[in-house]
Amino acid sequence: MNFKPSREFAIEQLDKFIEENLIEYSKLRNFDFGPDRRSNVSCISPYVNHGVINESEIINKSLKKFSFIKNEKFIQEVLWRVYWKGWMELRPKVWTDFLNDLNEIKIKYQNNENYLNTINGKTNIDCFNYWVGELKKYNYLHNHTRMWFASIWIFTLELPWQLGAEFFMKHLFDGDSASNTLGWRWVAGIQTKGKHYSVQEWNIKKFTNNKFDKIKLNENSLPKTDGRTYPIINKEFVDNTVSGEKKLLVFDNNLSFENTEFANKNFKKIFLVLNGNETRKIKLSEKVLNFKKFLTHDQEIRLKQKSISCEIINIGELKNINEDIYALYPSVGENLDYINSINIKNIKFLYRKIDKYSWKFCNKGFFNFKNYIPKIVQEFI
Ligand SMILES: Cc1cc2nc3c(=O)[nH]c(=O)nc-3n(C[C@H](O)[C@H](O)[C@H](O)COP(=O)(O)OP(=O)(O)OC[C@H]3O[C@@H](n4cnc5c(N)ncnc54)[C@H](O)[C@@H]3O)c2cc1C
Repeated sequence: MNFKPSREFAIEQLDKFIEENLIEYSKLRNFDFGPDRRSNVSCISPYVNHGVINESEIINKSLKKFSFIKNEKFIQEVLWRVYWKGWMELRPKVWTDFLNDLNEIKIKYQNNENYLNTINGKTNIDCFNYWVGELKKYNYLHNHTRMWFASIWIFTLELPWQLGAEFFMKHLFDGDSASNTLGWRWVAGIQTKGKHYSVQEWNIKKFTNNKFDKIKLNENSLPKTDGRTYPIINKEFVDNTVSGEKKLLVFDNNLSFENTEFANKNFKKIFLVLNGNETRKIKLSEKVLNFKKFLTHDQEIRLKQKSISCEIINIGELKNINEDIYALYPSVGENLDYINSINIKNIKFLYRKIDKYSWKFCNKGFFNFKNYIPKIVQEFI
């Protein structure tokens, strides 16, 4: 596995997957055959998360190969991230509560031996130690393995889920405020209240082709509880029409501007905004920061090839903005937190149509959202 930081590579990866492996996706997707045999899943999440390729183009390409019915599982998975994003947009306090909890928990656990052994892959669970190493080496874990990992972290190693979510964010190339936080909450049993994901030894054995043996797990755990409730906020994602010769901010979730619906708006200049560890609550590993930097640079090159005026800036420079400026909406997460913290009033957000349309279906669970997938596909693909 080698995640080259370029759109060209992302498209190659996606095309190869669709051509050769999509046909068996629903049958094989739950198997983790190890980092050298990843062709049963697409491995495109590091790119989708940065907007290097977007959901519409992925689904569009897949539908050129197979019908909706044959493709349904893959399309559902691709739209999970839209769903998680929308769910979080409607309840942003889940994100702020997570960060606040994390702040306190980190102090409590800074010298905790169990925690330090866990993040260094020194537990008495071999498969878990292996995955810690894999995560740090490749900055990616298979979806099923993320579920096993989180379940072991919470229920066998008995560590707070917030520390696990932080550990993933630090090392994953696809680290995403919504998919990650809500994924961990789901495993813990507080996302769907009372329903947790309790990993069983047979499941790991079966889906890793018996790679691991004698795995001692707590298989009889109870879900975690959290008394807080998160009512849906009343927020409209209002369309800002672009008028006049304006500048645009692009954050690290939209790094393929030329393939967005805003590409024809004739912005006078585009600022590609990098957010480093100085301004982040969750400090990212050097490799993850570099991945973001290189993807941003790749976007800069593509824009310049199209003679679009652009410049990479540090997020700290947003403090100096004193004119009206547009921004592709960065979503709930560290970039939006920074914008809110400096209280700039003259940013007008532009929302993707697919998000505005889909997020209204994120008020309930994914099974409800799934009913609207054919509509979303019909509308945007
Ligand atoms: C505890 C936990 C933490 C997670 N953290 C993240 C995260 O930080 N960032 C992230 O992008 N995903 C996260 N996921 C979701 C999922 O594991 C990854 O999106 C998936 O493994 C990416 O690999 P792939 O591209 O090969 O997926 P494929 O199986 O090939 O799926 C195709 C695409 O569908 C989307 N997708 C698939 N499954 C999910 C899912 N469960 N949730 C959201 N989108 C999905 C992704 O964009 C993915 O690239 C997490 C899951 C769990 C259980």
